[in-house]
Amino acid sequence: MDNNIPEINELIKQFSKLPGLGPKSAKRIILKLINNKDSMVKPLAKSLAQVYKNVVRCVDCGNLKIMDKVCICSTNNVAYDKICVVENLADMWVIDSANIYKGHYHILGGTLNSSENYEEKNLLIDSLVKRIKKNSLKEVIIATSATVEGQTTAHYIEDTIKNGKIKITKLAQGLPVGGEIEQLDDGTLFSAFKNRVPVTSE
Ligand SMILES: [Zn+2]
Repeated sequence: MDNNIPEINELIKQFSKLPGLGPKSAKRIILKLINNKDSMVKPLAKSLAQVYKNVVRCVDCGNLKIMDKVCICSTNNVAYDKICVVENLADMWVIDSANIYKGHYHILGGTLNSSENYEEKNLLIDSLVKRIKKNSLKEVIIATSATVEGQTTAHYIEDTIKNGKIKITKLAQGLPVGGEIEQLDDGTLFSAFKNRVPVTSE
């Protein structure tokens, strides 16, 4: 689809940035959209505009919420005693749909490497500390990836919260090194949760 229409080229550029899409598949999608302007482009544009306007990240738990509504983290009356800390929304969805865990979630919004500080990266670590205190939780499960950044982040969180009386656990070894939570199959995830290990402070 070589053309001199800047609007189309811009759209191709934007779609190519999406996970799993290169320029080739982006072009295929755009061709499909353009051939179905009224039935596809119009509702898509409307839907994107609504998400842009109304959906925000909750500053307490990191989950998505509707702008003017209270988040599930402050309305959920089920008295869970655990909180599971993940890097991103996709990780929470994977764990949630695998049906291996019942409890609160806390979505950090990324990971740290050793030269970064969490405020710069906007990670929700302060609000994690607040939520732990407020909800009298018994266990924090750190479910970050088995990547260098995931483990650096896990250590940082351990150091930040270990003075409390709360039990801190990590997903079991056996996660493939470099493995991202999002990529794990249900079986691996299940055993990593079931065999999670207490974090011992040196
Ligand atoms: Zn929330």
